[in-house]
Amino acid sequence: MQLSPSIYFYPFSSGLENNCNTIVLTGPETTIIDPGHKHLWPSLRAKMLDDGLNPADLKLALFTHCHPDHMEAGQILEEEYGVIQAMSSVEKEFYDGPGQGFFQWMGLDAPTGYIGRLVDEGPLNLGDKTVDLYLTPGHSPGGICLHWPEEGLLVTGDVIFAHSFGRVDFPGGGLAELTKSVQKLKALPKVETLLPGHGPAIMGAKAIQDNFKYVLDIMASF
Ligand SMILES: [Zn+2]
Repeated sequence: MQLSPSIYFYPFSSGLENNCNTIVLTGPETTIIDPGHKHLWPSLRAKMLDDGLNPADLKLALFTHCHPDHMEAGQILEEEYGVIQAMSSVEKEFYDGPGQGFFQWMGLDAPTGYIGRLVDEGPLNLGDKTVDLYLTPGHSPGGICLHWPEEGLLVTGDVIFAHSFGRVDFPGGGLAELTKSVQKLKALPKVETLLPGHGPAIMGAKAIQDNFKYVLDIMASF
């Protein structure tokens, strides 16, 4: 579904169609954020084609974190379209170590794709646009969120969802870190659309602030 001229959002619809939410930012460096599981790629591809997006135009696959349900399809995108796979430098270190265990644990083949771009906290150039990248550990050690102030967009991966937050019991995760990450996101100005890694989008600055507050209250209760 198209949210603005250059933002497309593919939220979870059913376990047979997708798993995590996927976001596409179009432009000269069309970027797909969290393409999801490999076996669900044909369904996402069909949805993109329905929206008039050509998967062959994808240039970058950016992963909010290295869990297979967010990144596994990146390998297909690399093989079929020459897409460059990207994650944060901190996450790459984790991915090369304990992160590999997730693939085994989920009964998946070890990934063979190449992480061709490492990103870090700060401005991230995506061709015709620059977004602000924040390191937001707690769910995964090098997890990232993206803020695009001009569009009022915040992409949060598995840091925060509507009325919930990401698991902190995975390797490299922790509640204290995740709480800090959520606080960091809450302080960002100009957020009108929050697209989480799972579940529905949150629309409107007030609803987003209310959700931050609600979730931080739950986190504080543990
Ligand atoms: Zn995750």
